[in-house]
Amino acid sequence: MSGVTPRLFVISGPSGAGKGTLVARVREQHPGLGLTVSATTRAPREGEIDGQSYYFLTDEEFKRRVDAGEFVEWAHVHGNSYGTLVSEVQSKLAAGSSLILEIDVQGAFQVKERFPEAVLIFIQPPSLSILQQRLRDRGTETEQSLAVRMSNAEAELALADRYDDVVVNDDLDQAVHDLLEVIQKHERN
Ligand code: 5GP
Repeated sequence: MSGVTPRLFVISGPSGAGKGTLVARVREQHPGLGLTVSATTRAPREGEIDGQSYYFLTDEEFKRRVDAGEFVEWAHVHGNSYGTLVSEVQSKLAAGSSLILEIDVQGAFQVKERFPEAVLIFIQPPSLSILQQRLRDRGTETEQSLAVRMSNAEAELALADRYDDVVVNDDLDQAVHDLLEVIQKHERN
């Protein structure tokens, strides 16, 4: 398509803000928008598939890859390590279309340092209490991990104004529309 520049998009937001659902819906309407598969030391949740949801690594293997310089960025998030592999970004950028990294705030700023032209988009929940309710409804967290994710959410929300754009995920259809518009706006620039 003429007049469209492939971009590297970084999407962050608190756990439970709906990033995964939003990104999946946007990709249905914007085929070709690539998504990297991250590596993590967290245990797989029910239904998650190694190599598709994440590359599930042991602590030792993750550290070995950090030492070997295999990550574009990596961070400790909610008690586990998460990172984006250089190989994932290279192979998917080579395909010539825009790429989404769905990563935490620490990783986002590392990517911005390395790729200043990257576009950072923050997904914001309507409120902290709604976020807590969504996380409970998802049923994937223990009370302890829920508390960690809620305390991290407050710290992450405080960084939203350092992002290029913020999309509030209140009504899902509206948020899908808004996120798509933000992505297309940057691809046209
Ligand atoms: P979850 O355990 O719920 O799948 O993800 C927890 C958090 O880790 C989310 O906020 C997600 O954005 C972040 N995350 C996932 N992959 C990466 C990654 O490759 N790098 C960084 N820095 N954060 C990630």
